[in-house]
Amino acid sequence: MARIGDLLHAGPTLSFEFGPPRTDEQARRLEKVLHELQPLHPSFVSVTYGAGGTTRQATREIVEHIHRDTDMTVMPHLTCVAQRHGDIHGLLHGYADAGIENVLALAGDAPNDGQAHESDFTYAVELIEMAREVSDFSIGVSAFPEGHPRSPDLDSDRFHLAAKLALADFGITQFFFDTAPYFRMRDQLAALGVDKPVLPGVMMFSNVEGVRRMSALNNTTIPEWLQARLDAVDGNPGDVRRLAVELAADLIEELLAGDAPGVHLYTMNFSRATREVVAQLGLR
Ligand SMILES: Cc1cc2nc3c(=O)[nH]c(=O)nc-3n(C[C@H](O)[C@H](O)[C@H](O)COP(=O)(O)OP(=O)(O)OC[C@H]3O[C@@H](n4cnc5c(N)ncnc54)[C@H](O)[C@@H]3O)c2cc1C
Repeated sequence: MARIGDLLHAGPTLSFEFGPPRTDEQARRLEKVLHELQPLHPSFVSVTYGAGGTTRQATREIVEHIHRDTDMTVMPHLTCVAQRHGDIHGLLHGYADAGIENVLALAGDAPNDGQAHESDFTYAVELIEMAREVSDFSIGVSAFPEGHPRSPDLDSDRFHLAAKLALADFGITQFFFDTAPYFRMRDQLAALGVDKPVLPGVMMFSNVEGVRRMSALNNTTIPEWLQARLDAVDGNPGDVRRLAVELAADLIEELLAGDAPGVHLYTMNFSRATREVVAQLGLR
């Protein structure tokens, strides 16, 4: 195990993100993907957490499994909105007791289930503060190069991001298809006095409808030229994967040439595209 803040200072890092399985079949597939990606020796891997705690147990189980049964450093994502202090406190203690040294502290969103949800938290900074009290975690936070969808403007987004990064150890961005907003964000943060590393997130998408939906939700611009290329491959999984690999390779080259502290690949629980891009760029 290692502290991700330290790994980033020694960088550049290569990391992979997974989602917790929700069925036995998904669990078997994720096991296979972990087995296929472990030989690439990622600097760390992370596991997402369902809005409002909907995957609390599933995330914890897969995180503790990776920690116990593989040699990969693992970081659980943790969201706090629509959840109670006691539940989050208990989960943080459980991770600390299991020897987990890293956590990605997020506000998250209330589950989209039409119900009212009571919440003891509003913003990610409240979770950072709780995590700091519980253990000596290396703490990551989210960053949105094109601005968070709820931010009224980019200046206020950067202001709150800078305040959050000042309390955390590193950031990881939402995915994007144009590196310019990422590099601008880095310059704006530096101007605000923030020097914490912010890892760019790169999407290894596996279907066109999914990438369009996630882009709309997360304020990620799909450039005109890419819209046309997505249309051209829609419905053909092999062509979708080849496009995802080509785009990711171009982005990663630009990002590393511009001194990004590493790259964080959203694997979508598939291994082939990730293995192809890592091999193509000689990252491992
Ligand atoms: C790398 C990455 C991983 C993610 N993983 C997950 C996951 O596993 N599960 C999941 O459900 N979601 C995940 N998300 C999505 C994220 O939870 C949502 O985007 C959520 O809406 C915001 O969470 P946050 O931590 O960015 O919130 P915050 O940092 O709290 O920010 C939310 C909004 O509030 C504003 N803000 C912050 N502080 C203040 C303040 N003091 N006053 C006024 N405004 C403020 C911010 O500018 C922003 O507009 C991830 C996102 C990223 C980039």
